[in-house]
Amino acid sequence: MGVIVGTTKLLGVIGYPVEHSLSPVIHNAALAKLCESQETGLDYVYLPFAVKPENLTAAIAGFEAIDLRGFNLTIPHKQAILPLLSKVSEIAQAVGAVNTVWKTDQGWQGTNTDVQGFLAPLKAHPRPWNNLEVVILGNGGAARAVVVGCAQLGVGAIHVVGRDLDKLQSFEQSWNSDLGAKLQVHLWRDLPNLLPRAGLLVNTTPVGMFPQVNQSPLPQSNLAQLPPGAIAYDLIYTPNPTLFLQQAQALGLVAIDGLEMLVQQGAAALEIWLNRPVPVAVMGQAARHHLGL
Ligand code: NAP
Repeated sequence: MGVIVGTTKLLGVIGYPVEHSLSPVIHNAALAKLCESQETGLDYVYLPFAVKPENLTAAIAGFEAIDLRGFNLTIPHKQAILPLLSKVSEIAQAVGAVNTVWKTDQGWQGTNTDVQGFLAPLKAHPRPWNNLEVVILGNGGAARAVVVGCAQLGVGAIHVVGRDLDKLQSFEQSWNSDLGAKLQVHLWRDLPNLLPRAGLLVNTTPVGMFPQVNQSPLPQSNLAQLPPGAIAYDLIYTPNPTLFLQQAQALGLVAIDGLEMLVQQGAAALEIWLNRPVPVAVMGQAARHHLGL
């Protein structure tokens, strides 16, 4: 981080808890790089703010008062922020959650960069996406960004797998016809019928996340049902790789971990705030260094 002086501008992340967020690490690494270069003329610092749910409105008013330029949001604020914004991007409306907010003359505006983050590592593994079926494990917040990302790719079909029929049905009904993709919901027991046709399998459940490093959302015998060349994508970034991805690699599948998504959603947010390209590689290095990878 550079030296903080009287003219340093503020960015940040709000969450509750916020202590484990990697965002301060990756953003301050990029800002340090950009700010050390005289030619950018930039002077920013990125701070964590632990904001309880009941204090969200007060926190946003406080941000206005101290002239904070922009912020990220993590659990539990990603939906609650929506009514406090003057404008919400189409993509954030589709996902139903905002992770990036910036200040304008008309008030705070928000978008969701998780979709861009999710799609970035898939660009290295191009496929005829329109023929491809996707299986998404889990139907929570992250699954919504994955669904929107898969719809943007133009995939042939999206199958969302969950353990609670009521939640699955609400998930299915929450999408309007604008999604532009065929979406079906299933219980876990349907997986053996879905996996042989799936070119992309995405884990959006927290199963396998530290400290449950010996768990996987599905047995290797299920993974072995995927066709050759299929992609196994785990949104979890710690441990790295997860058991799910270790097993996928052992089967010769393409494995993608959640770190690139995390870094790319952060880079997309920083580009919005600074209105210029940002050093994505520096952000990735900082994240890996922090996680001991
Ligand atoms: P969430 O909203 O709580 O959703 C979690 C989903 O997983 C729910 O559908 C839940 O099912 C399901 N689930 C939880 N435990 C399960 C279990 N034991 N067996 C089967 N299903 C289970 O959480 P989220 O915000 O979507 O985050 C999910 C994961 O994605 C986390 O590990 C998070 O760290 C990761 N993530 C990564 C990035 C990134 O940038 N790499 C971004 C966002 C999230 P029920 O609804 O039935 O409880």
